[in-house]
Amino acid sequence: MSGAWATLPDVALAVSVVVRYRKAVTYGVHALLAALGARVEHDLRLGTTPEETARHIRDSEADRVLVLWSFYSPDAEAMAAELATVRSLSGGRGLHIAGGVHATAEPQQVIDAGWDLAGIGEGESTIIALVRALREDRPLTSVPGLAVRDADGVALRTAPAPQLPLDAFPSFTGRNGPIEITRGCRYTCRFCQTPFMFGGQFRHRSVASVREHVREMAGRGMRDVRFITPTSLSYGSSGPDPDLGAVEELLAGVKEELPPHGRVFFGSFPSEVRPEHVSPEAMRLLKRYVANDNLIIGAQSGSDRVLAASGRGHDTSPVRDAVRIAVEHGFRPNVDFIFGMPGESEEDQVRSLTLAADLADLGARIHTHTFMPLPGTPWRDAEPAFIPLATMAELDRLAQRGDAYGHWRKQAEHAVRLAETAKAYPRRTRRRRTT
Ligand code: SF4
Repeated sequence: MSGAWATLPDVALAVSVVVRYRKAVTYGVHALLAALGARVEHDLRLGTTPEETARHIRDSEADRVLVLWSFYSPDAEAMAAELATVRSLSGGRGLHIAGGVHATAEPQQVIDAGWDLAGIGEGESTIIALVRALREDRPLTSVPGLAVRDADGVALRTAPAPQLPLDAFPSFTGRNGPIEITRGCRYTCRFCQTPFMFGGQFRHRSVASVREHVREMAGRGMRDVRFITPTSLSYGSSGPDPDLGAVEELLAGVKEELPPHGRVFFGSFPSEVRPEHVSPEAMRLLKRYVANDNLIIGAQSGSDRVLAASGRGHDTSPVRDAVRIAVEHGFRPNVDFIFGMPGESEEDQVRSLTLAADLADLGARIHTHTFMPLPGTPWRDAEPAFIPLATMAELDRLAQRGDAYGHWRKQAEHAVRLAETAKAYPRRTRRRRTT
C-alpha cells in the first residue's frame, strides 16, 4: 500500500513510514497510524511480509525511511531474525524502530538485537515527534519516549513520553477494529504487562469519542462493535467497583449509533471481565445490549495462596459465583487459568484442576495458559513453577472432552526462552538517560 505525496514545505525532508504489518499487532499499529494521520506529512506503506517490507524500503523515493516494528515478548527472537532479513534485502536502508510492550521493557535487548531505536511507552506522541524530527532533520534525542543507540551500543533514553487522556487520539481512523475504551489498569497482577506499560490507573475513552468511532464504522457498513479494555466492567470507574450507570451509557450510546441489525460485543474477545464484577445486575444489563453468548472471565488459579502471591486482588470465592451467575443469565463463561505461576506447588495445581473441573461441570470452558515471565512485570525474573506430567495429562483430558482450550504447551516453550533472556539481561543494567 502506498500513499500520495502532498506538497511539502521547502525546508522539510520527505519521510516514508514503512510498517512491518503483522496480524498479531494490528490494533496497536492502527492506533499509532491514526495518531500520525494527517498531523505530520508522510508517505505510508504496509509490508505484510519481510520481502514486501524490504521492497517498500528499497522503492521509497523519500529522503528518510522509518520502519516500524511492534511485537510481544514471545516473538522477539523471531522478529530479530526478520529484521536481519529485511536489512539484507533492502541494502541496509532505513531507520528501524521497535515499539510496544517488549521494546518498552527491554530497550537494551532490542538495540542489541539490531534495531536502531526502541520506542518506550505509549507510542502516539513519540511517532508524531519522531516523524517531525526526521522531516526537520533534528537530533532524535529531542524525541520523547525513545531509546537511542550511543557509540558504544548502549540504549540511551530520551525524556519519557506523556500518558495522555484516551480521547487525545482515536483508536483508528479509516479502518475497522475494536475500540479501545480503557487504557491502564488499577490492578497489579504480577504476571501482567498492562499496568507497567500503560500505568496503574484507568483512563477511559469518553462515550462521545466511542460513539464517533462507531458512527464512522457504521458509515462504512460495519455492523459489529468490539472493545479493547483490561477489564470490561470497570468502564467509567476509577476504583474496584463497576459503575454500571457508565457501562449502560456506553452500551446504549453505541446501540444508538448502529443500524437496527448492528451487534455489540462486550466482555468477550478481545476483552474480559473480572470475576467479582459478575453480578446478576451486571448480567441483566449486558443481556439488554450485547450480542455475545460468551463472557471471558479471569480466574487464573484455584489456589487462594497463589492468587494472593500474584496480586490478583481476589480469591477463588467469586469465581464459582461468577460462572454460576453468568450461566444463569445465558452466557457461556470462558475462564482463564494460568499454570506454573512462581511458587505454585503440585497441591496448588490440584486445586486449580479441581476448580477447573467444577467450573466445566457448571457450564464453563477453561482457557489454559502457562505462566510466562514477561519483561516489565514484577515476575520477569521469577522461576516458573514445574508443571508435572500428571497436570499436563489432566489439562489434555479436559481439552479432549471439549472443556478446555489454549496454547499452554507453546507458552511453556516461550517461558523457557524468556527466562533465559531475563538471565542474560539482569534488571536495571546499562540504563542511562540523554541530557
Ligand atoms: S491481568 Fe487484567 S486485571 Fe490484572 S493487571 Fe492485567 S489487565 Fe489488570
